[in-house]
Amino acid sequence: MRRHASWGNYPRPGHQDILTPRWRCNTLPVPAKNSTLLPRGLGRSYGDSCLNDGGTLLDTRRLNHFMGFDRDTGVLRCEAGLSFSEILEASTRHGWFLPVSPGTKHITVGGAVANDIHGKNHHRVGTFGRFVRRLELLRSDGERLVCSPAENETLFRATIGGLGLTGLMTWVEFQMKRVPSEFLDVESIRFTNLDEFFELAEDSDAKFEYTVAWVDCMARDRNLGRGLFLRGNHREASAATPPRRSPRWLAVPLYAPGFLLNGLTIRAFNALYYGRQRERISSRVSHFEPFFYPLDFVAHWNRLYGRRGFLQYQCVVPYGGDREAVQGLFSRISASGEASFLAVLKVFGDLPSPGLLSFPRPGVTLALDFPNRGRRTLDLLEELDSIVRRFGGRVYPAKDARMSARSFQIFYPEWLELAQYVDPAFSSSFWRRVTAADGRKD
Ligand SMILES: Cc1cc2nc3c(=O)[nH]c(=O)nc-3n(C[C@H](O)[C@H](O)[C@H](O)COP(=O)(O)OP(=O)(O)OC[C@H]3O[C@@H](n4cnc5c(N)ncnc54)[C@H](O)[C@@H]3O)c2cc1C
Repeated sequence: MRRHASWGNYPRPGHQDILTPRWRCNTLPVPAKNSTLLPRGLGRSYGDSCLNDGGTLLDTRRLNHFMGFDRDTGVLRCEAGLSFSEILEASTRHGWFLPVSPGTKHITVGGAVANDIHGKNHHRVGTFGRFVRRLELLRSDGERLVCSPAENETLFRATIGGLGLTGLMTWVEFQMKRVPSEFLDVESIRFTNLDEFFELAEDSDAKFEYTVAWVDCMARDRNLGRGLFLRGNHREASAATPPRRSPRWLAVPLYAPGFLLNGLTIRAFNALYYGRQRERISSRVSHFEPFFYPLDFVAHWNRLYGRRGFLQYQCVVPYGGDREAVQGLFSRISASGEASFLAVLKVFGDLPSPGLLSFPRPGVTLALDFPNRGRRTLDLLEELDSIVRRFGGRVYPAKDARMSARSFQIFYPEWLELAQYVDPAFSSSFWRRVTAADGRKD
C-alpha cells in the first residue's frame, strides 16, 4: 500500500497505486476492477479531498510545463501540475503576479482550480476560478474536452471547485495580474476584540488590496478575539525598496513528539505572537514572499503536530449573523480547552464564485488548526459545524477530513448537480465519505 498523505497527516491513506502521467497527451490509465482514480497536485489540501484510500492517485507533478505566456496581456497557459512557486519564479521579474494566491506557494494550478482557492484579496477580486479562461479535461473514456464559459460551460463550472472529480485537467489558461514591483506596503494593527476587527475590516477593504487577521483564539473574557490585522498594497516601482535579505529557511526534519504541542505551549505561542508588536500600528515595506507565504519559510512545519497529525477547520458564515457566529465559535473553542495556533479571520467580498461547489460566499471566514486528539477534537469540530449550520454557513472541503454527510449536503445542496458531472472512474476518500449516506436522514 502506497501512502502520499495530505498536509494534515490525517487520515492516513493506503493507496493501491500512484501513477505519474509524464505527458499531457497520454491517455488515462484504466483503474483496476472496483478501483478508482484521483488526480493529485502537491497534496497541500489538509484533509482527505486529495486522498483516494484503496484507489489510485494520478500524481500530476510531471505535467509542469509552461505552454505559452503573453507578456503584454498576462495570459498564461500551462500544464496543470505546474506549481505557483514555479510560476512566480518566472513571472515576477517581468511584473506579473498570481491573480489570487493562498497562504502557500507550494500548490499546483490544477489544485488551485479544483478547490477554487481564495486569497487575501478575496474582497476585491473573488476566487482563482474567476481568472480561468479555459482548461482541458481528459475523461476516462478518452475524450478531451476544452471547457470555458463559451464551450462545455456546465462542465467548466463543475470542474472549478469540482474537487478533482470531473476528470484530469491537463492544462489551464488563466489571467495573471500586472504589479508595479515585488514589494508591498504593509501595515499591522493590533486589535483587542472582535468589534475592533470588524471596524478595521470595514475601514480597510476599500483602501487595501490584501487584508487578513491573525487571532489569538486562546484568549478569554475581555481579551476574546484579540489579534493582529494585516493589510497591504503593492508598492509603486518608483518608491524606494529595501535591499532584499536572503530568507532564512528552516525545516522540521522529523515528526515532533506528540506532547510538544499542548494547551500550555499553544497558549504561550499565541500570547507571544500577539505581544510581539508593542505599538498599535506598525508599517513596513515587505517583499511578497514573507507577506504572502510566511509559513513556507519552515519546510514540513506540519510535522510539528506529530505522527497523529492535525485537523484544520475553515468555515464561512454569511453577513447578518457573522458577528454572533464568530463570537459563538470562539467562545466554544476557548471553553473546550482544545488548543489552536493562531486563527485566521477574513471578510470575503460579494463577487460570485464561478464553481458549482466553490466554498467562498459573502461573509466572514475563520480558519484554525487543531492537533489531532481523537474523539475530543472530532466532537468539538462537530459542535462547530452545528453553529455554522445554524448561521447558514459552510465548511471548506479542501481543509476537511471529518464533516458528516449530513453537514456536507446541507452546506452544499449543489452537490447533486456536481454528481452528474463526476467521471465514472474518478472518486476520492472525501467524496465517498460525504455522499455515502443520504444526509437528510442522518
Ligand atoms: C499553508 C497552507 C495555506 C493555505 N492557504 C489557503 C488559502 O489561503 N486559501 C485557500 O483557498 N486554500 C489554502 N490552502 C489550501 C490549498 O490552497 C488547496 O488545498 C490547494 O487545492 C492545494 O493544491 P495542491 O496542488 O496541493 O492540490 P492537492 O491538495 O494535491 O489536490 C487538491 C484537489 O485538486 C485536485 N487536482 C489536483 N490536480 C488536478 C488536476 N490536474 N486535474 C484535476 N484535479 C486536480 C485533486 O484531486 C484534489 O481534489 C492552504 C494550504 C496550506 C498547506
